[in-house]
Amino acid sequence: MADLKALANDLASGSVQVIDLTAPLQESTPILGLPPEMGQTANFKLELISRYDEKGPAWYWNNFHTGEHTGTHFDAPIHWVTGKDLDDVSQVPPARLVGPAVVLDFAKEAAANPDFCLDVSHVQAWEKANGAIPKGAWVMFRTGWSKFGDDAKAFANADENGPHTPGLTVECAEYFATKTEILGMGVETVGTDAGGAFGFSMPFPCHTLFLGNNKYGLTQLRNLDKLPTTGAIVIAAPLKIVGGSGSPCRVLALVAK
Ligand code: MN
Repeated sequence: MADLKALANDLASGSVQVIDLTAPLQESTPILGLPPEMGQTANFKLELISRYDEKGPAWYWNNFHTGEHTGTHFDAPIHWVTGKDLDDVSQVPPARLVGPAVVLDFAKEAAANPDFCLDVSHVQAWEKANGAIPKGAWVMFRTGWSKFGDDAKAFANADENGPHTPGLTVECAEYFATKTEILGMGVETVGTDAGGAFGFSMPFPCHTLFLGNNKYGLTQLRNLDKLPTTGAIVIAAPLKIVGGSGSPCRVLALVAK
């Protein structure tokens, strides 16, 4: 039988730490902008109901408005046309929200080249150095991009040719999506795909291939630098929105000290 008592003791003593991989969710949280002829996602917004006042003398609460894909969020398979017959966010099995995390650290490469794309050869070299990526893993692509997370302009890093942010090559997305049994990919950027991914030979390969192969995306993560290369456990907790394509998500990591 598994020993959750040991885990409880380790949490109490601090020998297992809980790292929050979630970005603050507020009106200024960067969102994806699409070309103006397309539908747009909404910024997060709080709307006050009452705050210890005549509308509610002893209580404070808000309504909130947001897109499903705002801030740190979860992409469910149904988000993409390739996954249209697969799970919506409420249908994702809870066991597939929790898994071991591996961190592929390419912050140096992304700092030198914002269009840096992870390729299969990088993954193979990583596996040679660190062992095979385990079944059911969350693959965390560390790019250092979260340092721009409070500055929407720097975060999008767009010029007249569109956004410039790191991602995966088509071949690498295909490798993870079809040759591995990972849960999905976690990134620090606004979406799992590179900023320039609309112009790839297969546009948006991460969305197309991961979601079409019943794998998930986690975006706008923070604190990936606080995770070990292997050994952390990640818990992704999207809202159980019935019929939803995704959801803002609290993402926590358990890390042994
Ligand atoms: Mn999304």
